[in-house]
Amino acid sequence: MTDTDTALNPTPTVQGMRDFSERKPIRRCKIVGTLGPASSDEATLKQLLEAGLNIARLNFSHGNHETHASNIEKLRRLAKETGRHVTILQDLQGPKVRCGQLLEGAMTLKEGESYALQYGTKQIDPKVIPIDYKDLVNDVKVGQTVMMDDGLLILKITAVKEKEVEVVVKEGGLLKNRKGVNFPDSLLSLPALTEKDSHDLLFGIRSQVDVVALSFVQTPQDVMQCKNMIKALGSDIPVVAKIEKMSAVAAIDEIAKVADGLMVARGDLGVEAGVEKVPIYQRKIIDAAGRNAKPVIIATQMLESMIQNPRATLAEVTDVANGVLEGADCVMLSAEVAAGKYPVECVQKMASIINEVESWPHNKTKRFSNQSASSDAEWEEHKAIARAACEAADSLEARAIVCLTLTGSIARIMSSWRPNTPIIAISPREDVIQRLGFTWGVFGMKNPLFYNTDILLQDLPQLLKSLGIVQKGDSIVITAGIPINAMRPTNMIKINRIN
Ligand code: PEP
Repeated sequence: MTDTDTALNPTPTVQGMRDFSERKPIRRCKIVGTLGPASSDEATLKQLLEAGLNIARLNFSHGNHETHASNIEKLRRLAKETGRHVTILQDLQGPKVRCGQLLEGAMTLKEGESYALQYGTKQIDPKVIPIDYKDLVNDVKVGQTVMMDDGLLILKITAVKEKEVEVVVKEGGLLKNRKGVNFPDSLLSLPALTEKDSHDLLFGIRSQVDVVALSFVQTPQDVMQCKNMIKALGSDIPVVAKIEKMSAVAAIDEIAKVADGLMVARGDLGVEAGVEKVPIYQRKIIDAAGRNAKPVIIATQMLESMIQNPRATLAEVTDVANGVLEGADCVMLSAEVAAGKYPVECVQKMASIINEVESWPHNKTKRFSNQSASSDAEWEEHKAIARAACEAADSLEARAIVCLTLTGSIARIMSSWRPNTPIIAISPREDVIQRLGFTWGVFGMKNPLFYNTDILLQDLPQLLKSLGIVQKGDSIVITAGIPINAMRPTNMIKINRIN
């Protein structure tokens, strides 16, 4: 066995390898799709991966461990079979208040009619709506608002009794089983992680999900509580903070610092803050993610009309396109893929909107130099190299920036500067490769450590050429921390023209 043999993985794959080798435009903004009844059969899952789904979101507000485990098994197997990569995102319900199971599965709330809200999971009396929140009677006051189903139904509290809260319907409509309930002007004493979340988190860690999303984050401490729980369970899975409370928007930089990613959870944010505030909050959240080199997902109602119709509206297409232009790492589909009539067409539509925006010559979403200074010398070195690699690659119109990374952090820093050149992150850690799947413009590749700089510089270009990722005449920009065995942060940049 030669030195070269030990440095190469015999069957390496790069995420999105087919697009690289077919020399197609490489889509940088990633697509998240929520799995549900409309998208959990094998044929649809396969079509979703082929259509360009990058991240499968398992929504733990719905389904049970059996259905999620079955989806995880199918996704992992189909990803191998199709050669398409997929990152699995476990979305924890968090302290979201919901109504319980209704007698008929749904009920019509009529304007002017009164109902009682009572703690419970199943409806017994048609005039009493069960709510899965124990402390309801202690935390609300007369005159406050209750919203249901993403704010579509509006009720006012008229009386607070020992065991129930009386409400009158102000804006009515159809209420279905397990719909969300918001109390925008009440201060609820809810924990960051519920008992159900802890149970689900343990399941997620055992099932090796790639990323966890935490709902209803209010403070950086909420994120830390989740991260500490993950650590105590023996894992380091990244945590995406879902920003859907006004208190989270107010503390966005502190949350972005401790979280591994952010989600603009527009559904609940619109209900909590009022929909007019959402576009500005979306910008604030995307900017905070950029400043802190953390990926950001824009979620909810992106192609809402496609739940029923095969075509998106002009407003929806514009919303997705603007999200990409504002700097989203990912755009997300919820009910469109989970329960809609056209799940595959939705992913195809998103991919085509993103491709169009990314091919626009004026699409310069670079965010060079807006990150805050740090006094840590090693960090500065690391950051300076990352930035130099991005600028060199773009000015040379290089085929790829190829970075060696153990934790993925350098790839995320490069991505946050939004170079035009795709970033290939090579790590010996499968979990790191999987996690990078939701970072803009980053494509992972697993390879054992290159243990010697000479071997790295000699073998890497040839390895990429043998995989069809690069061709003769292409330039690549390579970064690494040398000496390689010393576990240094990135401190080397090399420009290589492929022979
Ligand atoms: C949202 O509220 O926009 C969201 C993504 O959260 P969920 O789908 O869990 O309600």
